Amino acid sequence: MHILSKILLAFLPDDLESIFKFALLFIVVPALLIALLFAGPITAAEKIPLINTEQVKMYIYTANKVSDSTKNKYSQRIQIDWRQLVAIDAVRFQQDFSKANPAEIEKLAKMFIKKVDEVEEIEGEFPNQVVKKYEVYKLRSLDEVLSLLNFSTAEKEKVKEFIEFDFSLLLNSAANLPDNWAAVEKNFKWPVPGVYRITSGFGPRVDPVYGTMGFHSGVDIAAPTGKIVIAAADGEVGYAGWNGGYGNVIYITHNGGYETRYAHLSRIAVKKWQKVKAGDIIGYVGSTGKSTGPHLHFEIRINGQAVDPLGFYR
Ligand SMILES: [Zn+2]
Repeated sequence: MHILSKILLAFLPDDLESIFKFALLFIVVPALLIALLFAGPITAAEKIPLINTEQVKMYIYTANKVSDSTKNKYSQRIQIDWRQLVAIDAVRFQQDFSKANPAEIEKLAKMFIKKVDEVEEIEGEFPNQVVKKYEVYKLRSLDEVLSLLNFSTAEKEKVKEFIEFDFSLLLNSAANLPDNWAAVEKNFKWPVPGVYRITSGFGPRVDPVYGTMGFHSGVDIAAPTGKIVIAAADGEVGYAGWNGGYGNVIYITHNGGYETRYAHLSRIAVKKWQKVKAGDIIGYVGSTGKSTGPHLHFEIRINGQAVDPLGFYR
């Protein structure tokens, strides 16, 4: 007899009850576990648009461009919800967002605006008068657009499921960091020593305060109020004080066109024009300005342009 069969037979029990237990342990349980393992991700993936940040930006940009085109003297700006565009395309393209292109997105976005009126106005002085036409627009509802697209009931349901998805998760690049991530300090020191919990990454995101789409120009480092904040590099304080949504904020200018910003501070420990060294305490974590809880909003700018700070610490 084959050696493998011998081994298997040796493990095979002889009475019926044991055979049942054997089957349960080695066949039914693993089968169930495997089924559970795959069922979860599959159902989850069906409701999550498989779209990357660059593609999302394309939708946000196009939705805003078309929205801007609706504003004139007689028509107010019609805001098109980019999330509805993504949800529709998730169904249309069956999640394959490589098929998305700006021209198609624009066509879809335009379906959401409906011309309801046209106003003619004579402008200028005689004899140089011209007739100017202004179109007045209205926003179409998602249902109206889905019907225009001839979506089936099942497809309409799917679109609505996609919209339920919390896009902030998708747009939050912080989610891409491993759990035990720690900053690697090269040219810049980490502004909150020893605290590496990023609650919001750099890039487009759903505004946590207003729920609207915005661009997050820095990273949010969650830390308790009063934790020290240090200068990331040698430089000079360009601004120290209150600045709107930033709350109490410090700007430090560095060599090479670099600037770092530290926002929502509970207390500022430096003054404008003060020279600082990397690692100097400049302030303390807080929740001032537009903030939902104590954290440091940290930015790195190059010639005024905000860049992803994490790029300097990996
Ligand atoms: Zn922030």
